[in-house]
Amino acid sequence: MTTDLAARLTAHLHRDDGQEDLCFVAWRPSVGATRTTAILAELILPADGERDVHGNVSFTSAYFLRAAARAAAAGCGLALIHSHPTGRGWQSLSRDDQAAEAGHAGQATAITGLPLLGLTFAGIDRAHSARFWHRVGARRHEPMWCESVREVGDRIAVTWNNSLRPAPASRSSQARTVSAWGEEKQSSLARLHVGVVGAGSVGALVAEALARVGIEYITLFDFDTVEIVNLDRLLHARLRDAQLRRAKVDVLARALRYSATARRPRIRGLDYSVTEPAGFAHALDCDVIFSCVDRPWPRAALNLAAYAHLIPVVDGGILVRASPRGLRGAEWRSHLAAPGRACLECLGQYDPGLVSLERTGMLDDATYIVGLDADHPLRRNENVFPFSAATAANEVLQLLTATIAPNGIGDLGGNLYHFATGTLDNVLDGCKPSCVYSTVLQGAGVGHGVDVTGSHPAAERARAHRRRFGQRPGVRLRRTIDDLLAALI
Ligand SMILES: [Zn+2]
Ligand SMILES: [Zn+2]
Repeated sequence: MTTDLAARLTAHLHRDDGQEDLCFVAWRPSVGATRTTAILAELILPADGERDVHGNVSFTSAYFLRAAARAAAAGCGLALIHSHPTGRGWQSLSRDDQAAEAGHAGQATAITGLPLLGLTFAGIDRAHSARFWHRVGARRHEPMWCESVREVGDRIAVTWNNSLRPAPASRSSQARTVSAWGEEKQSSLARLHVGVVGAGSVGALVAEALARVGIEYITLFDFDTVEIVNLDRLLHARLRDAQLRRAKVDVLARALRYSATARRPRIRGLDYSVTEPAGFAHALDCDVIFSCVDRPWPRAALNLAAYAHLIPVVDGGILVRASPRGLRGAEWRSHLAAPGRACLECLGQYDPGLVSLERTGMLDDATYIVGLDADHPLRRNENVFPFSAATAANEVLQLLTATIAPNGIGDLGGNLYHFATGTLDNVLDGCKPSCVYSTVLQGAGVGHGVDVTGSHPAAERARAHRRRFGQRPGVRLRRTIDDLLAALI
């Protein structure tokens, strides 16, 4: 849910008289490769007489039917949320909760076509817990517990289901990190599934920082191969990796397994573009995504993930202004795209016109690129390692600010640093009024109707090329020997 909707829910459920309360909510599905998420879309608050607050709150069947019909008309499922005023953290179901939710699950599914979602709001720490109700037999429904409930927008706040996603044990290798922001914040931060899209200079540094901080579950996305021209900026890449034409994600994933401070790190490298159907589906399994790409199409795909699927996207970029007489200036920026904040399109991080051009494959056509103005953003490729390091650090800080929220503030806006003057601008603008991401597409989930993925010939070529190269006599053996040597060192 958005932090805005969470605040409206709290205003309704958190009663001054300390009694329980409830309401219905419409939800929309968001489906990734392995995860299904319910996006809370609209509160359907009770009208007079539709619920009875008497210590243990109850609702009338008229309220239930009105809410279910309204959800169905909007193409949504139905959720029922009630409060435990003295609860803290993830809540279990009381006998009354079980009866109320199981007793309405069949009818809610029949009316909306989607399972009933039950939620509990814990009054002490404002934590949420959730379960889907699935049919297991004639008139019998059982709860299927969710792993987490996430609130995103002016901060990222997650309630974790400790039985499905246990808190990681603290480790001596993380002592300094934990002492900075405490066990509780670390325990939540470490459980986020973080995607890093682009395993280039900035992406590799971002991923390294995440692994050191103790993030347990990191998925890397990049179809590219390590090349010699990358070696001045690509953390962990060696000349051997370029000679053996290894995938950037393989090189990075291998190194991160050594850097990770988590007890059981899950680090996956996927050699897909996030614009390919398989890549986008895996991106929708993440809790937060770092956009470390400079192309318009993947940025547009991630912008959709940030708003339609409520998966916050940290994005950044570097612009170096070089001239034949030397460096004129350089700027790097970082920002977090999420509901209530400016999206990547409104920030000018990509040109929607170029997205359609990139989808035709033109931007991978060397003759087209050479024909562009020397100053065109697509031709600019000057960059150095320290600029990437500064950008990567600022991007990770965006995640830390949103999750740790020092002094309760999780949104400081975007950052724009000017290298030539040493000045830092705060970018506080929101989306433009005409923006579709922050309006009609926000929270739309699978029903957004925007086709953002497609075939990606350059990615297919890169994978095929690596496969063919790997089949050459001797290459597989050299790769194996290199792996063994790397493991020994
Ligand atoms: Zn209850
Ligand atoms: Zn926008």
